[in-house]
Amino acid sequence: MKKKGIVFAAVAVVILAAVIVCDFLFNKTASDTFLAMNTTVSVELTGAKSSDALTKIKEEILRLDEKLLSRTNENSEIYAINNGKAKISDELVTLLTVLKEIENESGGAFCIGVAQLTDLWGIGTENARVPDEAEIEAAIENCFDWTIDYGSKTVHLPEGVKLDLGAVGKGIACDYAYGIVSDRNCKESVVAVGGSVLLDGRGQGPNVSFKVGIRDPLGEANEYCAVLETAPGCVSTSGNYERFFEDESGKRYHHIFDPSTGYPADSGLLSVTVEAQYGTISDALSTACFVLGIEKSLPLLEKYNADAVFITEDKQIITTYGEFQNETITVTNDSYTLGEVK
Ligand code: AMP
Ligand code: MG
Repeated sequence: MKKKGIVFAAVAVVILAAVIVCDFLFNKTASDTFLAMNTTVSVELTGAKSSDALTKIKEEILRLDEKLLSRTNENSEIYAINNGKAKISDELVTLLTVLKEIENESGGAFCIGVAQLTDLWGIGTENARVPDEAEIEAAIENCFDWTIDYGSKTVHLPEGVKLDLGAVGKGIACDYAYGIVSDRNCKESVVAVGGSVLLDGRGQGPNVSFKVGIRDPLGEANEYCAVLETAPGCVSTSGNYERFFEDESGKRYHHIFDPSTGYPADSGLLSVTVEAQYGTISDALSTACFVLGIEKSLPLLEKYNADAVFITEDKQIITTYGEFQNETITVTNDSYTLGEVK
């Protein structure tokens, strides 16, 4: 009897040790914060291969910025395109194909051919100014007409057009991060690249959800006005508070342009947060929806199976929830009111 008890205790100890070792291995965490893409990147991962995933995510985001997407880094492919060398990698052909499709689907509200406009207004730089009409006209004239030649793997830019992937680079980075954490079976991953965040939790079971604070567009950087509870995916926010300048009369000019007018978009919104399966989509759509305004955004969101939280100038928080998906939102600042699209 005594012997049986000892065996039982030994088995229990072995099982307990195995559970502790497994828990230690599978719940290993890795986190870091670094600068890339002119913003702060923060990574929090859980899983047996989390530290390897973290190293790879860092490498990939820095590579994307330096070698592919930056328009200021002389080693990047976008820089080369903008400076007359048009031959590009298959990787960039694939990305630009997706972006051209979103340009078309958004009716040109999202347009990566806006670099000239961005430079002209200089918002966020010390040269910020309101350009004159003729300059604006010239900058938007052909911005939509850049094309990809699939045979020669080149990009054709019409005279005066240059590419600016500032509206979508951070979302693209989230998609690369997703590939890395998927390959390494991470249990839970939160990768925030500026205003775009990857939330992945496949290892946590089917009903995992994440809480995301939505910044108060009229408050400071650390003030939130709502909390979004959402399934795994990507969330991106575009807001008029990110980069702007004010003229002598106090009128605010922000950095998201309506390519049809050449002026900062004026659709009655302070910010738009979009949730989608992929970061490239959530980031491009947050910019497009900011330009389009609530009503015109709906078909675009539906097309990409995405949802949005619009914050209007009259302090309403309008969601598409119930229309396309089942997320929930809680307003945490009672100077805002919650509404749904009509
Ligand atoms: P986001 O904060 O993601 O909405 O991106 C804004 C940035 O994208 C700006 O700083 C510009 O570099 C660029 N941009 C501005 N307007 C547009 C537009 N309509 N479509 C695409 N990119 C734009
Ligand atoms: Mg964007």
